[in-house]
Amino acid sequence: MAIDYNAMPEAEFRTMLRDFIRAECTPNLLFQGRRVRWKEIEPWTRKLAAKGWLAPAWPVEHGGMGLGAEKLVAYHDEIDNAGVSRGLEMGVVMIGMLLLKFGTPEQKAHYLPRILSCEDLWCQGYSEPNSGSDLASLRTQAVLDGDHWVINGQKIWTTLAQDCTDIFMLVRTDPDAPKQKGISFLLARMDTPGITVRPIRTLAGEEEFCEVFFDNVRVPRENIVGRANEGWSMAKALLGFERITIGSPKVAQVALLRLADLGRRVGAFDDPAFVETYTRLQLDVLDHVTVYERFAAVLKKGGDLGAEVSILKIWITEVYQRITEYTLEVAQEYGAVSGPSRIGGGEVDPLGFFWLSRPATIYAGSSEIQRNILSKAVLGLG
Ligand SMILES: Cc1cc2nc3c(=O)[nH]c(=O)nc-3n(C[C@H](O)[C@H](O)[C@H](O)COP(=O)(O)OP(=O)(O)OC[C@H]3O[C@@H](n4cnc5c(N)ncnc54)[C@H](O)[C@@H]3O)c2cc1C
Repeated sequence: MAIDYNAMPEAEFRTMLRDFIRAECTPNLLFQGRRVRWKEIEPWTRKLAAKGWLAPAWPVEHGGMGLGAEKLVAYHDEIDNAGVSRGLEMGVVMIGMLLLKFGTPEQKAHYLPRILSCEDLWCQGYSEPNSGSDLASLRTQAVLDGDHWVINGQKIWTTLAQDCTDIFMLVRTDPDAPKQKGISFLLARMDTPGITVRPIRTLAGEEEFCEVFFDNVRVPRENIVGRANEGWSMAKALLGFERITIGSPKVAQVALLRLADLGRRVGAFDDPAFVETYTRLQLDVLDHVTVYERFAAVLKKGGDLGAEVSILKIWITEVYQRITEYTLEVAQEYGAVSGPSRIGGGEVDPLGFFWLSRPATIYAGSSEIQRNILSKAVLGLG
């Protein structure tokens, strides 16, 4: 019989996860200064899958853990506290959730087990050149031709597309409709003829994301999720829980731990200037934790989060960047070294952490876009 994790006392649930991470997650995946590739994280992902813990938010009848909001927060807390790298999670957190909500019985039966068995690895094809923040202006087109959709266009910033077997994408299916109205949600195998993947090298020298080109790509008609031209509202409906996880204090808390560790190694705690800056950053994180806990309490009681939740992502990603910038300064000459350096008897990668923090104010809604939301929907300006 499946374990009812929601009935478990929270402390026991957290200990169970912590013990598992300690026993099974290898050090090369902990506190990494870069986004890891599938081959590196595959063994850990398969261990989670074998345990039935790969999809914490999915219902039990579909192979998930069926966690309610409280345990879901605890699950993510434990993974983040341990510093475990993010895997290829788009299958579980995005398309899996979408199919659970809007997929046909056939789509659920086909795709969900393949996500859980790690047979299918999904990437997200939303952004295009000139359509990022203003995503609804996207131009990749799909036209129905008999039993197939024919796709032409280009996606960009597709995280780890080169490691994936499948892509879910937003495409324009009615060019004459108002821009949010003519968009549909399509699925495609990455090995379909006409798809070309070109990795993009980041500032850190990693091939973390890709351009994906579609040249007369034919996918079966049934590869649409939901109804044609209703893709935009479905994509928005996916935001739910993600709105709080992207504002989690964890990234900044981990960065602060790293800064403290480095500070101890180089004797910086004897320097009042360091102590002052460190304390200010620590208080900035603690302020955030207080606000985050208020939002989390609303979720735990089954409530919905309003537009004001945008403050979480703005605040924490900007503090995160201030911490990693200051870490570079404290690391002195090591701050310019690419890859881990031995500092004070241990390995530290200050530059890796700096690079990792840079895109945080861009993805999942940039700081400017989040500020627009706050000013319009919360403050009633403009
Ligand atoms: C690490 C990383 C991983 C990503 N992974 C994926 C992925 O897997 N799949 C995917 O589809 N996309 C992905 N993206 C893309 C991401 O969603 C976009 O970068 C994001 O939506 C911003 O779009 P853009 O890059 O086109 O910037 P733009 O929208 O062109 O913005 C450029 C600048 O202008 C500002 N700006 C734009 N509009 C306004 C406005 N109205 N008011 C004020 N300021 C504005 C922005 O804040 C930003 O500073 C990823 C991005 C990053 C950084």
